[in-house]
Amino acid sequence: MRVKFVAGNWKMNGNVASNEALLQVLVPGLAGISGMENAVCPPYTYLSQVQRTLKGSKTALGGQDLCQHANGAYTGGVSAEMLRDLGCTYVIVGHSERRMVFGESDALVAEKFGVAQQAGLKPILCVGETLEERDGGRTEQVVARQLDAVMQRGAAELQNAVIAYEPVWAIGTGKTASPEEAQAVHGFIRSRLAQADRKLADGMRIVYGGSVKAANAAQLFTMPDIDGGLIGGAALVAEDFIAICRAAAHAG
Ligand code: PEP
Repeated sequence: MRVKFVAGNWKMNGNVASNEALLQVLVPGLAGISGMENAVCPPYTYLSQVQRTLKGSKTALGGQDLCQHANGAYTGGVSAEMLRDLGCTYVIVGHSERRMVFGESDALVAEKFGVAQQAGLKPILCVGETLEERDGGRTEQVVARQLDAVMQRGAAELQNAVIAYEPVWAIGTGKTASPEEAQAVHGFIRSRLAQADRKLADGMRIVYGGSVKAANAAQLFTMPDIDGGLIGGAALVAEDFIAICRAAAHAG
């Protein structure tokens, strides 16, 4: 039985005051929800602030990315150990914005994934196709390629990880994949994992991301292979994120 998981990706948003206001509503609201797990991923600069506010709560902390190097002359880099030091449990790797805006390759994403695992962080691996790739009938090919880059390191690498299927055309666009469209790709991901390790595939949480809102979360989360969500825009509105987490708890 997989426990539903919902993570909020705050992206490059917020400031000390707005974070405080968001958390003041979020923390007590999430405290009343059981039967699911949740996390928030603020920008690096606010990890300490959010960690202090989350202390004693069930909401976990995550980074939005990490540097593949452990330490040294990597200006601007933040290592896995630094994220651990600030109380992170999770780290997002391979978000489409990292892949497209910052030019991260499948190989680099796989390296970051491995580094995060070794440091004891749980990576949230994002995979997903662009609209052009979907229209060209290449969704499964693209997702398989992104997944295989990580699986080549060995199926055991995927223990304690989460996979986020995030069709690029649905991120921040207001266009959500239908529950059936998302389920088809989630099912494909699980069967691909099962080719390597059936038990791993059965236990893997595969969450959906792409314009998830309070209004569509319940329908998505009741699909058999959708184990929660990675939430962007709606994670910045406390009431919306709480409602999405509640939908995950009910669907669980
Ligand atoms: C995301 O960036 O991971 C995401 C899913 O964004 P949004 O929910 O805003 O589409």
